Amino acid sequence: MKVLVSGASVAGPSVALWLGRAGHEVTVVEIAPALRKGGYAVDFRGEVFTTVLRRMGVLDELRSVQTGGTAMRFVDESGKQLMRLPVEFAGGELEVLRADLSRVLYEHSRAEATYRFGDSIASLHEHADGVDVRFESGLEQTYDLVVGADGMHSVVRRLAFPAERVRERHLGYYVGGWEVPNTLGVTGDTLMYNVPGKLASVGVDRRDPALAGTLFVFKSPELKYDRRNLDQQKAIIRQHFAGLGWHVPELLEGLPAATELYFDSISRVHVDKWSLGRVVLLGDAGYGATFGALGTGTAVVGAYILAGELAAAGGDYRTAFDRYETRLRKSVSTAQDGSRSGQFMAPATRFGIVARNRILNVPFFLHQMLKMAQNLSELVDLPNYPNYPNYPNYPNYSVQEGELVEE
Ligand SMILES: Cc1cc2nc3c(=O)[nH]c(=O)nc-3n(C[C@H](O)[C@H](O)[C@H](O)COP(=O)(O)OP(=O)(O)OC[C@H]3O[C@@H](n4cnc5c(N)ncnc54)[C@H](O)[C@@H]3O)c2cc1C
Repeated sequence: MKVLVSGASVAGPSVALWLGRAGHEVTVVEIAPALRKGGYAVDFRGEVFTTVLRRMGVLDELRSVQTGGTAMRFVDESGKQLMRLPVEFAGGELEVLRADLSRVLYEHSRAEATYRFGDSIASLHEHADGVDVRFESGLEQTYDLVVGADGMHSVVRRLAFPAERVRERHLGYYVGGWEVPNTLGVTGDTLMYNVPGKLASVGVDRRDPALAGTLFVFKSPELKYDRRNLDQQKAIIRQHFAGLGWHVPELLEGLPAATELYFDSISRVHVDKWSLGRVVLLGDAGYGATFGALGTGTAVVGAYILAGELAAAGGDYRTAFDRYETRLRKSVSTAQDGSRSGQFMAPATRFGIVARNRILNVPFFLHQMLKMAQNLSELVDLPNYPNYPNYPNYPNYSVQEGELVEE
């Protein structure tokens, strides 16, 4: 089949890899002019996620770029430690920078799919024989299937699904992250600083210790802004963190120069049914929760199951889409319900901050929390798809001076 995938971050390249290997003709369209680089570290924990990565053939390469996990040290204004979350808390079994994950998935799927950067779907029209797609560039094509893997604010979801079937719930917080020069000399733990309703944090970039990544979280009602306008998003961050102490002014100084900014509301997407006709949603587009709900792992596993079910159903996409959803929905909903990342990272009150720190300073409670995170990741029942075809060895790529080079 001719399949169009919208979005080239995590879910998109993952499903492109599987569908391409199964012999489909896959195109991935990405709105950004090139693979997006930004983002914090993301983690995979539990056997299910690592098994899928192994089957994709990317596990070893990801291990070679893993960060090794990073402990989070919550500090006061003077830098004194208030509470520390160990490496296992955030890092899981495998922690990699989101940009590295995306790059590795892209490199491994490039032989299987055609990538179109700097374009986006403008309209979709489904009929008996396929889906007519018009792109913003003016190009028009017909596809058998369209996969929306274009994140929390999916254009595929907006164009193909009636508004009443979609609920986007703002959970009261925003998150932003950008790269800065590591002028603070952060080496080990990521440093986290709270005031009520806000978190500022900075951690060293393990690949290049001269650089550091920030992650800022703040409580706010829903804001109106242009998602394509970085300057506007930077102004929002500056406004919310103006006048704060610790190293906040220094970290904000790096903001104007940042070319990649990750900025989003912490929200939850709920779609009554993940597919409609020939269009199906994958990853954050269908069941996102911004962060704290295993979104990255679920996107990778979702891609495996979606493509596997299509292969198992012999191309009967209706059956495949239903089975994909049946297999995944319960675990996804459980992970989404458990996500309170905003409140956890930036409690709204001084009391909330003190209470969180006190509780997690007690080893028993810390252990319980780690156990909960682990259990969550085992919820997906990973099917075996015996009819996935065997695939030959694919060329390896490396990045040399910013260019992808075939080895
Ligand atoms: C730059 C960036 C940084 C991130 N940083 C973090 C982080 O620090 N911590 C965290 O927990 N999660 C982060 N995420 C989100 C995380 O990657 C996802 O929650 C998770 O991996 C699920 O991936 P996904 O592929 O479903 O969605 P996403 O990773 O959100 O990817 C969606 C992709 O679709 C593209 N896209 C959007 N609109 C269109 C369109 N109209 N047409 C074509 N393509 C479109 C986007 O540019 C993006 O490449 C980040 C995402 C991005 C894009």
